[in-house]
Amino acid sequence: MKLNKDDIKKALETISIAGEGQNIVDSGALQNIVTFGDEVIVDLKLSTPALHIKKRAEVDVMKAIHEHVYKKAKVEVKISVEAPQKKNVNEIKGKPIPGIQNIIAVASGKGGVGKSTVTANLAVTLSNLGFKVGLLDADIYGPSGPIMFDVANEKPLSVTKDGKSKMKPIESYGVKLLSIGFFTKPDQAVIWRGPMAAKALNQMIFDADWGELDFLLVDLPPGTGDIHLSIMQSMPITGALIVSTPQNVALADAKKAVSMFQQESINVPVLGICENMAYFTPAELPDNKYYIFGEKGAKYLAEDLGVPFLGEIPLVQSLRESGDIGRPAALQKGTALSESFAELTRNTVQEVVNRNKNLPPTEAIKITTMAGCSAVKNKKI
Ligand code: ADP
Repeated sequence: MKLNKDDIKKALETISIAGEGQNIVDSGALQNIVTFGDEVIVDLKLSTPALHIKKRAEVDVMKAIHEHVYKKAKVEVKISVEAPQKKNVNEIKGKPIPGIQNIIAVASGKGGVGKSTVTANLAVTLSNLGFKVGLLDADIYGPSGPIMFDVANEKPLSVTKDGKSKMKPIESYGVKLLSIGFFTKPDQAVIWRGPMAAKALNQMIFDADWGELDFLLVDLPPGTGDIHLSIMQSMPITGALIVSTPQNVALADAKKAVSMFQQESINVPVLGICENMAYFTPAELPDNKYYIFGEKGAKYLAEDLGVPFLGEIPLVQSLRESGDIGRPAALQKGTALSESFAELTRNTVQEVVNRNKNLPPTEAIKITTMAGCSAVKNKKI
């Protein structure tokens, strides 16, 4: 069997590298095809060193040739990596997503520090202020979005938009939600492998009908890994918010998260740090603050790292309870807790506006006014 290069090229036009819209032929990733009888060598040049993306490219190439050209072809895929040009360091980020104005990645170094709780409450606070808000729950290890928004039994429907089938986010409390949790059974162990998770997330980003959004919040998995890299390559993230408790072990990991975003090849602006579980005030002693996890640790870390401190959220039983019953606590207005979230939200919006260079000035003023950012800060725009 003599393999035909044109057939192979056509087959390769059906696949793309994770995070890149174009197929591997049009994107220039395909360097060369060599055939010899039923053997074929495909040379690819990728701009990312991420192992799971390389692996997936290799598997996709083999599959495409086996499916579209010759089932028994012996395929060898050679992958070289060419780091993006220095001046393009920023361009490692994904291309703009039409209709989505600002994307905020919420990260934490350590798990269990309240990243998802803060994200959910930030989302409903923004929505209450009149913003159009989406939340992408990308926490592959413990997607809690569906429970926190009381939609655990829902499944996103498929709708047709511009001739393409798209996933429709589930709306709850004015927030459009897509979660990796919608695609796993609640009692199933989460066994997403890197490439599978990256693919599922890519679909939730690009094959979803998000519509117009002022803010898309992305609840990242804890830590700093391949999934973070792949999301940062797929999405044009405006900035990252880091959540930490004041405890030393959490702070050490928060520091790593900050440095991941600040790495030259990633270069996502850090909007700032939010201190969660900052203190506890018992109902019967309303003037007392108990610093259970340490005092102001995250605030000091922000100062040390030279990044903004965005706010502190106390340790409150009702915040945990409201997460469990699926009604974010910040929805209840006029409480000390909702004021803490309002403050966090104002500061975050202000930082987003300061960092998003693509935001037209009129839009920047509109957003800061809606969020109630202080007039003094507004002057900085
Ligand atoms: P992460 O997303 O960082 O893993 P979660 O948001 O799931 O963390 O929070 C972990 C647990 O702590 C949850 O049970 C949540 O309800 C609770 N929790 C988070 N923040 C607070 C807080 N400020 N006060 C009380 N409970 C909290």
